[in-house]
Amino acid sequence: MSDLLDYHDALATLLQTHTPLPGEDAVPLAHLHQRVLAREVRVVHDVPAFDNSAMDGYAICGNDCPSWQVVQRIAAGDAGAQLRLEPGQAARIFTGAPVPQGATAVLMQEHVEREEAAGAPPCIRLRPGSDGTRPAVAEGQNIRRQAEELRAGEPLLAAHQRLTPAAIGLLAAQGYAQAPCVPQLRVTVFSSGNELAEPGQPLREGQIYDSNRLMLLNWLRTLGFAVTDGGILPDRLAPTQQALAQAARTADAILCSGGVSVGEEDHLKTALTTVGELIHWRLFIKPGKPFTWGHIPQEGGRLCRVFMLPGNPVSSLVTFQQLALPALQRLAGLPQAQARPWQLQAKAAFTRHKAEPRREFLRVNLQSQADGYHVQPLGQQGSAMLSGAAFAQALAEIPPGLRVEPGQVLTVYPLAERF
Ligand code: AMP
Ligand code: MG
Repeated sequence: MSDLLDYHDALATLLQTHTPLPGEDAVPLAHLHQRVLAREVRVVHDVPAFDNSAMDGYAICGNDCPSWQVVQRIAAGDAGAQLRLEPGQAARIFTGAPVPQGATAVLMQEHVEREEAAGAPPCIRLRPGSDGTRPAVAEGQNIRRQAEELRAGEPLLAAHQRLTPAAIGLLAAQGYAQAPCVPQLRVTVFSSGNELAEPGQPLREGQIYDSNRLMLLNWLRTLGFAVTDGGILPDRLAPTQQALAQAARTADAILCSGGVSVGEEDHLKTALTTVGELIHWRLFIKPGKPFTWGHIPQEGGRLCRVFMLPGNPVSSLVTFQQLALPALQRLAGLPQAQARPWQLQAKAAFTRHKAEPRREFLRVNLQSQADGYHVQPLGQQGSAMLSGAAFAQALAEIPPGLRVEPGQVLTVYPLAERF
C-alpha cells in the first residue's frame, strides 16, 4: 500500500478501477454541454430526408438537352406534389428545396443564361465554358440524395462519447429533444489546513489564503461536473472523519487537498482509513508524491470515490490533471482512451542536466513551429509556485533520470479543455 507507484501504473489502475456511473438522465438538448451519452443513439430520419438541391439554380430533366423550359419554381420549405419534369423542362430551385421527380441534375444559376419570352415559359441554356464549348452535366450533379449521409435505423452516436457541439447539432437535426446521458458526476471539494483562510477575509498571522479549492471548483465546473464546495477542514481527525463521511452520503466523489503527507498534522489518510478504505498513497512523481486515493462505501453498495491531493498548489494541479481527473472522467462515462490525459509529442527547446530520480511534470508553454511543437518550461517550477502554472499551456513529462538536451522529444499533456 505504501510502495511508491510509477505514474503510469497508477494511471492505468485508476482508469481500470473507475467505471461509468450506472443509470441515465434524459437531458434537454440545450443543457448537453460536456455531457456523456449513456447509450447508443440511432438515426430516426434519413439524412437527407428527401432528395434536395445543393445549390441555388435549376433542376433539369435531360442533361444533354440544348435548352430547358422553366415550368415551375420550388423554394426551401415548399412541400406537396410538384410536376414531374419531362425532358427539356426545368424547375427554378433553391438550396435545400426538394428536387422534383424526373430531375437528372441541378445546374448552378451562375452557369446558365436565362431568356424571358413573352407568353411562354422562360428558357435556360448553359453558358459556354472558357473554350467556347458546352460544359458537360454529370448525372445527379448538385442533388443531395435521400439517405446518402445517414439511413434511419443505423447508429447515429456511440455510447460513452462526450457530446461535442457538432454532436449536439446532429441530435437536434434528428429531432431529438433530449439525450440519454450518464448521470452528472457530483463532486465535493474540500481543503484542509489550519493555516488556510477564505479569500475575501482578513488574514491572521501565519495564515495563507486557500487557493486550491477555488482552482479545483472552477476546473471541475468547466468540465461539466456538479460541484459542491465542502469548505476548509481543520487539522483535526474527528471533524475530518465526520466531514468525509457526511459528504460521501451525497457525492459520487470527494476531492480534497492538503493534510495528506507524513506530518503530525496530516489527518486525511487516517480519516479515510477509518470511514472508508485507502487504496493507495505515494507515487514516484514530482511534484505530487503524497497523492492518495480510496473510497467510502455508500448505502446500496455503491462507493464514493476519494482523491486526496497534496497541499502545495502545483502538486494539487499536477495530480488533479494527471490522475484524479482521468478517474473522474471514467466515472463520468468516458472510455479509458478518452479519459486519460490528452498527450502530444514535442521537442525540448531547453537544456536540463539535473537527473531527477522521480518522474517529473514541468509546467511549460508550447510553440508551434514547422517541425511541430517546441516546449519551453516556465520560470517558477517550485511545487508551491502557482505563478509558474497560471498560464502554463501544458505539463511536460520528464522520465526518471533523463537529462534533457534541446531537440529531445518529450511527452506533453495540454492543460486546455478538450472534447
Ligand atoms: P500539506 O499537504 O497540508 O502538508 O500542505 C503542503 C503545503 O501546501 C503547505 O505549505 C500548505 O500551507 C499548502 N497548502 C495546503 N493546502 C493549501 C490550499 N488549499 N491552498 C494553498 N496552499 C495550501
Ligand atoms: Mg497541512
